[in-house]
Amino acid sequence: MAIDRQHYVLCSHCDLVIELADIVIGHKAVCSRCNTTLAKNNNNMKFRATIYAVCSLIMIIVACGFIFIDIRIVGNFIGISVLDIPKTLFFDKYSYISALFILFVLFFPIVNLVIIVFLCSKLRLTKYRKRDLLIVYEKFQHWCMPEIFLTGILVSFVKLMSYGSIGVTGTFWAFCLFVFFYIKSLVIFSPEAIWNEIHRNNFATDTLKVGKTGICQNLKLCKCCQAILPVQYIKCPRCKQKSKIRDRDKIQWTLALLVTSLILYIPANLFGIMITVVLGASSTSNIMDGVIYMWQAGDVPVALVIFIASVIIPILKIISLSWLCYFALAVKRKNKRNCLKMKKLYTAVEFIGKWSMIDIFVVSVVCSLVRNQQMMGVYPDIGVTFFATVVIITMIASQKFDPRLIWDRPQNRQ
Ligand SMILES: [Zn+2]
Ligand SMILES: [Zn+2]
Repeated sequence: MAIDRQHYVLCSHCDLVIELADIVIGHKAVCSRCNTTLAKNNNNMKFRATIYAVCSLIMIIVACGFIFIDIRIVGNFIGISVLDIPKTLFFDKYSYISALFILFVLFFPIVNLVIIVFLCSKLRLTKYRKRDLLIVYEKFQHWCMPEIFLTGILVSFVKLMSYGSIGVTGTFWAFCLFVFFYIKSLVIFSPEAIWNEIHRNNFATDTLKVGKTGICQNLKLCKCCQAILPVQYIKCPRCKQKSKIRDRDKIQWTLALLVTSLILYIPANLFGIMITVVLGASSTSNIMDGVIYMWQAGDVPVALVIFIASVIIPILKIISLSWLCYFALAVKRKNKRNCLKMKKLYTAVEFIGKWSMIDIFVVSVVCSLVRNQQMMGVYPDIGVTFFATVVIITMIASQKFDPRLIWDRPQNRQ
């Protein structure tokens, strides 16, 4: 009797072999050991994902074309479009931040939306083309931040109120809709369904033992397409990417990156992130100055948001990842409860990491809007560059960490 090999999956977080039953439409399957989502069955996935992606793309075209926020400072009217923000940063000689803005807020999300449209519409693509598109999609997905930019705009409004009166145009609502449709299409789109169209996900020759780990059955998971591979395969036949049974050496990478980010965290907090020039007199403010200023002005929630996102989260991330590395390498007696706690910590670090970019976006918006040549201007300062680098390095550090090491016990490795 032929076995339906497609119904086996290997959990990417805890390496358990699980047999999937047919998933009811609108539901998802989760790992019985670590609660990681393994597969989802969204009703009419391709059609709905295409519709939302197309709507999102239309909205971003509208949002880029016109003025979306304006401010009146002492009678002068200044309005900016989304594209004016990277332009201003570029002319201020902060081309690094300008490039990050274009990539994280516009380029990566737009490319991924186009990929969703290509993969889900009725276009005839070869399986090689599908494979390339899915690889690009997975790579870009970590770095898409339009929702963080939108939150950054809302936070910057509170800061901007002290400079003048702010207004939003219809284009601003188009940008909000872009973010909403973008998130909807991501939630609906299921890359594993497209991977399974290219080839079944199981390349194991023997029957799999459900409820046992992959490592003790000489199986490994392809990190790129989540296929189950026998350990002797160097390249995955489905996505042609190299994979290892464990990325044990990547822990050194994680630790090296954490030390780098810790060193950069010092200048990021000591140097100013914004220079305010009023009637020719300039003053520099760093992250903590901004928080204290907001707190004293009575904007306690915004002060807390910036304090948590910019000061607490990077430090918590560095401590958490160091602890995870220690747990994965040095702790010998691991029980399920501790492993589950560590898994939750890792998921939190992965989710929360990019939210530290919020302060960079706040500075970008404020600097682009407050440019009244005669009276006052706000300019970015060198601290922004250090801070953005800290966020990026800690994000790479968490991506390098292999969560399966949390669950590995010495006896599994034989
Ligand atoms: Zn699991
Ligand atoms: Zn693969």
